[in-house]
Amino acid sequence: MASYLTSLNGFFLYYRTAQTQFIPIMIKKTLYSLAVITLLSGCKSQQVVAPVAPINTIELAGTITENELKEKLYVYASDEFEGRETGEPGQKKAVEYLKNHYVKLGIPSPLGDDDYFQEVPLERMQAPDMTMTINGTPLEAITHYVSLSSSKDGELTADTVIDMGYGIESEQYSDYKNQDVNGKIVLIRSGEPKHHDGTYVITGTDKTSKWSNMRQQFAAKRNLAKEKGAKMVLFYYPEIYDMVAARFGRSSGRLSLKGNADDMYMLLVGTDVLKALTESDAINAGVPIPADLKFNYQAKSDALTSENVIAYIKGSEKPEEYVVLSAHLDHEGIKNGEIYNGADDDGSGSVALLEIAEAFQVAVERGQGPRRSVVFLHVTAEEKGLLGSRYYTDIDPVFPLEQTVANLNIDMIGRVDPKRESDNRNYVYLIGSDKLSSELHELSEAVNQKYTNIELDYKYNDENDPNRFYYRSDHYNFAKNNIPIIFYFNGTHDDYHRPSDTVDKIEYDLLTNRTKLVFHTAWEVANREGRVKVDKAEPAAGGGTN
Ligand SMILES: [Zn+2]
Repeated sequence: MASYLTSLNGFFLYYRTAQTQFIPIMIKKTLYSLAVITLLSGCKSQQVVAPVAPINTIELAGTITENELKEKLYVYASDEFEGRETGEPGQKKAVEYLKNHYVKLGIPSPLGDDDYFQEVPLERMQAPDMTMTINGTPLEAITHYVSLSSSKDGELTADTVIDMGYGIESEQYSDYKNQDVNGKIVLIRSGEPKHHDGTYVITGTDKTSKWSNMRQQFAAKRNLAKEKGAKMVLFYYPEIYDMVAARFGRSSGRLSLKGNADDMYMLLVGTDVLKALTESDAINAGVPIPADLKFNYQAKSDALTSENVIAYIKGSEKPEEYVVLSAHLDHEGIKNGEIYNGADDDGSGSVALLEIAEAFQVAVERGQGPRRSVVFLHVTAEEKGLLGSRYYTDIDPVFPLEQTVANLNIDMIGRVDPKRESDNRNYVYLIGSDKLSSELHELSEAVNQKYTNIELDYKYNDENDPNRFYYRSDHYNFAKNNIPIIFYFNGTHDDYHRPSDTVDKIEYDLLTNRTKLVFHTAWEVANREGRVKVDKAEPAAGGGTN
């Protein structure tokens, strides 16, 4: 058959010498459709489908516009939404708003017909009722000790407390060497060991390790003690006692995932507890301190429910593989009568997801939807400790984590970081793109070069960056499950977590560019032949919020 065409060419050449340009095209078209008709009529059984032109992703990205982003954000981050505090009316308005958009776009929910809400059961912590005596000395909650974790109801009695020094275990130094603290009560100090020259034993430099920096040491020492089977930690850290007691002592109102109570007790203790235990506060790691200790704990909390909003586009060829796009829907609410609108944090990410969903849906309507399934996940309670995304990944992953190919998380992409020393405002910080999959990193770079040409800044991607942004937004709950992630972020600014984070300060042209970058990246991840490969292991644990 192909040969037929060649002869046509010969014929075609003949004509050109005699007539104008137009005729050849016309002839070609007529002959072409003739050929098709003959073919179709000649052999119906073969059902030749006219090849569909590959979808134009630039055109799809073109549906993501400044005006639409602005229009949506002016609603979503308006005073009417009251700063979208988790569990409060403003947050409920926010989830309805998001749901209505997916309904309007005709993008279904995985949860059932009209149900776009994954309920996230939470509890607002009230200060627990606690009693404690050591060697007959009654000690008072808040005055002498506070609970740092929400634990299960129960009581403890013991005749020994193990002095576990700094409570550290590392290659360079360990308090747990030859120690069995399973089922025991341990006393741990803040800080880490130093050499005589003032350098730290673990880092070998003047820099602290995770064992004594403010952000990490609690989690690091608690997790280790728990791993070792301790049933209670008495954490002696006098320098910060008053500050923490003020925060944790009274009804903090801190939210946590319901039923996530710890079965280990973690108490921050003041000097009086140490005095009740032992005369000297010298560190004698591994030495048992005889102590008649009695403790009782009664949790007090109020249950409340919040919602993640989930919509998804089923893949045409690989529906069992999922690309999850996420942003957090909540913010700080109203404080001292002031509304924290959270236009950038994370109103920008929330409306970006809606526009990206629209672009994907246009492709679906043209019969060229993504090959893999694309999930639009708006998580709640990010400001409360990444709770909505943790509920999704750790308790109820609506789509199997093993088949989750990647997570692209957007948190604050509407502004410029005033601390950034470059004139080029058309940038975005990328965090985590190379942490688990070099293929995802290369894909992201290539897509940007091809479509958006934004300056991709990896300043906060550094393992040792003190801000630890990698651990401070919802992608972290995917990353910790070895799912490749990219976190899109513009850095903090003067209005970060202030009532002044308002819609009039958003740079809508930059928001549009960055949204298009995420769209193109998602499109490529969802449509490339193979799922992006995980070729690296997850770095050591951390935690916090953004
Ligand atoms: Zn945020």
